[in-house]
Amino acid sequence: MKQINSYIDSVFHNQNALLEEVISSIEENGMPSISVSPSSGKLLTMLISISGAKNILEIGALGGYSGICLARGFGREGKLTSLELEERYAKLAYSNLSKAGFGDQVSYITGEALQSLEKLVEDNKRFDFFFIDADKENYENYLRYCIRLADSGALIVTDNVLAGGSVADQGAKPKRYTELMKRFNETVANHPQLGSLLIPIGDGMTISKVKK
Ligand code: SAM
Repeated sequence: MKQINSYIDSVFHNQNALLEEVISSIEENGMPSISVSPSSGKLLTMLISISGAKNILEIGALGGYSGICLARGFGREGKLTSLELEERYAKLAYSNLSKAGFGDQVSYITGEALQSLEKLVEDNKRFDFFFIDADKENYENYLRYCIRLADSGALIVTDNVLAGGSVADQGAKPKRYTELMKRFNETVANHPQLGSLLIPIGDGMTISKVKK
């Protein structure tokens, strides 16, 4: 999987100087190197550009790598709301989005994402594109909130659903992370309000279209 991703990135030039700087800023700040892969980031940009989504909700900001990829999809017309547990991560993400020219189109809400999501529901907020990329234990809870907050036809994209390829392992007793991702994939595949597919790019992304 790693070899295939490296090949795709090298041929399709999915990394660039600004995104390299974001990766360096994450390392310099002692934060974990768990941003989306370059090709996954490019897929996010393309999905937003193709769908015409303008009101995006991200769950899990880290240093803003995926945030920049999302914002590049909507350009000058659109808004990104991003939920992040760690105040200092959100600050770095905001600084990186500002450097990319999207400072006035992004807002970060810090704290437990589940609480932030409940507040967004209470405030009757609506979004047409969601990116789930935070703690895996809560993926199913995040999915439920995203469906509640979705406009009809909205897309929900979720990262790391292949769990390093372990979801496809037969035999060995699956680890907790693998179990969570397998259960999540089955939920999105069979959900009556979703039409979904898993794309094996990066660490795997599910793309779900909301039917209301
Ligand atoms: N989407 C980012 C990117 O590709 O640039 C990477 C996100 S990283 C995989 C996961 C992020 O989720 C971390 O920044 C972490 O602090 C955040 N996170 C973890 N648990 C959370 C929670 N309960 N509520 C909100 N954010 C959380």
